[in-house]
Amino acid sequence: MARVLIVGAGLTGSLCAALLRKETPRPVHLTVWEEAGDSGGRMATARSPCNPQSTVDLGAQYITRTPHYAKKHQSFYDELLAHGILKPLTSPIEGMVMKEGDCNFVAPQGLSSIVKHYLKESGAEVSFRHRVTQINLRNDKWEVSEERGSPERFDIVVLTMPVPQILQLRGDIANLISECQRQQLESVRYSSRYALGLFYEAGTKIDVPWAGQYITSNPCTRFISIDNKKRNIESSEVGPSLVVHTTVPFAVTYLEHSTEDVQELIYQQLESILPGLPQPVVTKCQKWRYSQLCPPQGVVQLNVILNICQLNQSSKFSTREHYVDLRCSLENTGSINQAHMRQPGGGILVGNFIHDTFILPAHL
Ligand SMILES: Cc1cc2nc3c(=O)[nH]c(=O)nc-3n(C[C@H](O)[C@H](O)[C@H](O)COP(=O)(O)OP(=O)(O)OC[C@H]3O[C@@H](n4cnc5c(N)ncnc54)[C@H](O)[C@@H]3O)c2cc1C
Repeated sequence: MARVLIVGAGLTGSLCAALLRKETPRPVHLTVWEEAGDSGGRMATARSPCNPQSTVDLGAQYITRTPHYAKKHQSFYDELLAHGILKPLTSPIEGMVMKEGDCNFVAPQGLSSIVKHYLKESGAEVSFRHRVTQINLRNDKWEVSEERGSPERFDIVVLTMPVPQILQLRGDIANLISECQRQQLESVRYSSRYALGLFYEAGTKIDVPWAGQYITSNPCTRFISIDNKKRNIESSEVGPSLVVHTTVPFAVTYLEHSTEDVQELIYQQLESILPGLPQPVVTKCQKWRYSQLCPPQGVVQLNVILNICQLNQSSKFSTREHYVDLRCSLENTGSINQAHMRQPGGGILVGNFIHDTFILPAHL
């Protein structure tokens, strides 16, 4: 049975795994390796250590269905809505720019529940705290090394982490990328942000008329959300949670500072915006070094195709037919987020379904 490794348990990795399971007619063994201790990636949902029912979305805040996505991928939204994983965003978000025909959704259990849903559907074997460090070609297979265990061999590897992290990988993969392709990939830029999550005791009142607010006049703070209110899950037994996203310039200035120091600065600014805010019981500060793609480079560059090798027609997984199956499955992966992908005509491929992904069929 062909072995496929998906690196990264974010939205791209999880949806890719679910679609491969659903749409590939041949049996495949799916494995997901994730460097963090939980799934979600940039759709991370943090839990309060004092009460695991109290959660906060530290990365993405809501899912926007544009008319274009609705036309192409309505079934994905329908499935998530039917499972109660997505619900329409109904609470007020001040300063939110809505384009005509757009519809926003929140995830009552936190956005990481989307990722967890797809991972479960995929039946993939998921290993956390598996940080991929090297990828080599060994006897027509991709040998993938992670920080702790022994290397393992796969027929296909899909890399879903942000491009700069892909470029940090060692081994043959580094030499298979031509200088020109490397330059293109190196020009892909991401913004950086910090997120600060605050958890409060049950019964705490945060007295603001909105569930979220975009801030335009503060050098540090870009977005504040009373996260449970945004998700319509106010309860007398679970305390409220709040999330702050910083501006990009603030994050760039403090990118290499200690998280403790940065957390303090974000909190001071928050208090100046919301004087009288109650004291949280726990806080969680997250640095997003690679937060969101900076247009326009991202859009252009992620359609790069690395057409380095030809597929071996006789191999188990890499027949052209099978490859097309895989490609079709992956094309759909971009369903609920930005996505495009190009057909490389065989070989190593970089697409941006969702944002940034490599597919490496073995067998040169
Ligand atoms: C602050 C912020 C706000 C956002 N707001 C929105 C929003 O409101 N709406 C929206 O649609 N999108 C939003 N986004 C973007 C959205 O979160 C991302 O587009 C989406 O989550 C990307 O998913 P992904 O799976 O492609 O990447 P990721 O979520 O980054 O997943 C990649 C995974 O790979 C893992 N990984 C990295 N390196 C390795 C390695 N060497 N070995 C193993 N695993 C590795 C990472 O830990 C991560 O889990 C936001 C992002 C941020 C950061």
